[in-house]
Amino acid sequence: MAKISVRGVVQGVGFRPFVYRLAQQYNLKGWVRNTSGNVEIEVEGDEESFENFLADLEAKAPPMAHIERVEATFHPLKGYTGFEICQSLSQQGQYQLVSPDIATCEDCEREIFHPTDRRFGYPFTNCTNCGPRFTIIEDIPYDRAKTTMRKFQMCPECQQEYDDPLNRRFHAQPNACPKCGPSLELVNGNGNPIECSDTIKATSELLKAGKILAIRGLGGFHLACDATNEKAINLLRIRKRRPSKPLAVMMSTLEDIEKHCLVSLEERKLLQSPQCPIVLLRWKYNTSNISPAVAPNLNYLGVMLPYTPLHHLLLRKTGIPLVMSSGNLSEEPIAKDNDEALIRLSGIADYFLFHNRDIFARYDDSVYMVEGVPQAIRRARGYAPYPIFLPFKAKQILACGAELKNTFCLTKDEHAFLSQHIGDMENEETLEHFENTIELYKKLFRIEPEIVAYDMHPEYLSTKYALNLGSEQGLNLIPVQHHHAHIVSCLVENKVEEPVIGVAFDGTGYGTDGAIWGGEFLLADWRSFQRVGHLEYVPLVGGTAAIKKPYRMALSYLYTLLGEDSLLEGLPLGKVEPAELELIKQQLKRGVNSPLTSSAGRLFDAISALVGVRGEIDYEAQAAIELEMLAANEAGEPELKAYPFSIIEHQGAKVVKLGELFSAVVQDVKNQTPIPIISLKFHNTVAQIITKVCKLIARESGITQVALSGGVFQNRLLLKLATSALEREGFSVLTHHLVPCNDGGISLGQAVIANFNSQS
Ligand code: ZN
Ligand code: ZN
Ligand code: FE
Repeated sequence: MAKISVRGVVQGVGFRPFVYRLAQQYNLKGWVRNTSGNVEIEVEGDEESFENFLADLEAKAPPMAHIERVEATFHPLKGYTGFEICQSLSQQGQYQLVSPDIATCEDCEREIFHPTDRRFGYPFTNCTNCGPRFTIIEDIPYDRAKTTMRKFQMCPECQQEYDDPLNRRFHAQPNACPKCGPSLELVNGNGNPIECSDTIKATSELLKAGKILAIRGLGGFHLACDATNEKAINLLRIRKRRPSKPLAVMMSTLEDIEKHCLVSLEERKLLQSPQCPIVLLRWKYNTSNISPAVAPNLNYLGVMLPYTPLHHLLLRKTGIPLVMSSGNLSEEPIAKDNDEALIRLSGIADYFLFHNRDIFARYDDSVYMVEGVPQAIRRARGYAPYPIFLPFKAKQILACGAELKNTFCLTKDEHAFLSQHIGDMENEETLEHFENTIELYKKLFRIEPEIVAYDMHPEYLSTKYALNLGSEQGLNLIPVQHHHAHIVSCLVENKVEEPVIGVAFDGTGYGTDGAIWGGEFLLADWRSFQRVGHLEYVPLVGGTAAIKKPYRMALSYLYTLLGEDSLLEGLPLGKVEPAELELIKQQLKRGVNSPLTSSAGRLFDAISALVGVRGEIDYEAQAAIELEMLAANEAGEPELKAYPFSIIEHQGAKVVKLGELFSAVVQDVKNQTPIPIISLKFHNTVAQIITKVCKLIARESGITQVALSGGVFQNRLLLKLATSALEREGFSVLTHHLVPCNDGGISLGQAVIANFNSQS
């Protein structure tokens, strides 16, 4: 007899019926049951059948199951005569991994489009292989009474499916049908119901007529409109106060997507995966009729397939690609409740499509890009709260993350529960979402943190939250340097423990010297780091004003590196008002509100403004992104040229001097060198800076493994150029896959560093 224990996401995902069917297939006897921590199985039968059973257990597991570990031990025969699913065993202090919400499976999709099926046209169809999970769970163990589905009493037919171990809906907690389950309601901007016999049809007609709809989905509301209707999109942008940040588009089928975008094999797999994220795809904007207003000046379009029955029905009925942007104003958290949406999205949406299956946890769409392999840009729906597995057993830690694109991380055992994307922690609403989500994770995974890790930046709301919590509850507080956290997040997801050369390039991170870091070379491991190199310091003139207005940054570099008498004639910067120029010079001279920065993000901004691509931005990294987009067109150039730069030794660190780079770019601009050429040369220069500094560090340290992290590495061109240049020099290069290279990955690194720096 074999006792098998299976750990992972194995409950509420159809795992026991799967085991039941498998046992029958191989004629094995025994039983299967859920315990608080695992699924346990006892089986008897011949050896070959057992081997097959064990192999299939992992290989053929249901789509939502995620197996972490299978252990088998052998015991004397018990003489079982049949195979059954036994009563669950609850154990004190144990916890379960909770499944993320998963896109509608093929079987359910078939049912909703099958005219004689009892779920024909039903927008809340789901089964054990698909549907809501995390967004409806209030507590564990996961059963219907502890979800927002508790208010719906199953009809006899649904109950029968639920009770039948051979049915696809056996113990599917959100199981429902048109007779007994949730339903839709279409209302106008004042919340008054619209009379209609077919809600999906009425909604699709409004969308086709150019209206903006707030549509309640899986983890919150989307703001939707016709993605081919420029007027509708511009109106949405004005109302949402989102002038040019790209919007995501949902398309009905993969064939539709291929009409508008180039899709690689790897991208197709990701689009059609059960996680169904938004994937950034190369946009065929010359032939696509998607409005350029969806993603102004960009070569990539964020696209996803329908992932709920409601989306399938709407897209099919509408017959056009739909903008599906998160239902919020600017950077606030996504709205999730009907009443809340009516208030927060009034004035944005013309109509609201409500439903009454309540959402317990806000859950944004995940965003991925494929550069060689899939890489998370925003990790939420379909992924969280599935943990990142740690290569060690962790203490119970709460890591509070950074400011923008915040996530937090709670650790226990070998699990790092990295939260879904929370948002930019700049307002009360996001802070509240952050606090509520921490409480939910603590409850679901039975974690009581004794250690709190936080960013060194004194002004971050996440830092203030941590300090408060620490002093109130007497917890062990551990500050973590921002770029150290970036590098360690990359190391941990790659399961690398030994020290590496960490290249952390991003926009802003508080340094141990009080300056704003962001172009950093660290010798780092899980425990500590040493800053062994960085881009040279320049003043961030006027503080945040320099971030919103890259032309100020360009002036700061020019005046600081090339002298105050630099001539702006023949440069796009020549258009800056003399009064403002004078003010900037004064600020630089007196150092007023001009902290020093080594930020790589600001370097990209400055070059973008200097060559005339973008002098002012309205979303993070816009200037750098648009600069990259222009170079990408030229990336086929056989011979890569670069600008000059030099590296000096200063206080034990390599400092990259950028004066020659700037004066060469100024020359190129004055000579009217095409911007794509300048941009490509500049990208290549940054790749060379990285490689050269790493070589110098390697010579002294003997370390030949490099980790690339920080938001700047969302720049695909730079990532590609830097990786290949480093590899040519014999370095092995670690990059991100599971967690974002941007600040959305910071909390994972913080947690790990705190784990190895705490006494308790
Ligand atoms: Zn299904
Ligand atoms: Zn029913
Ligand atoms: Fe960062």
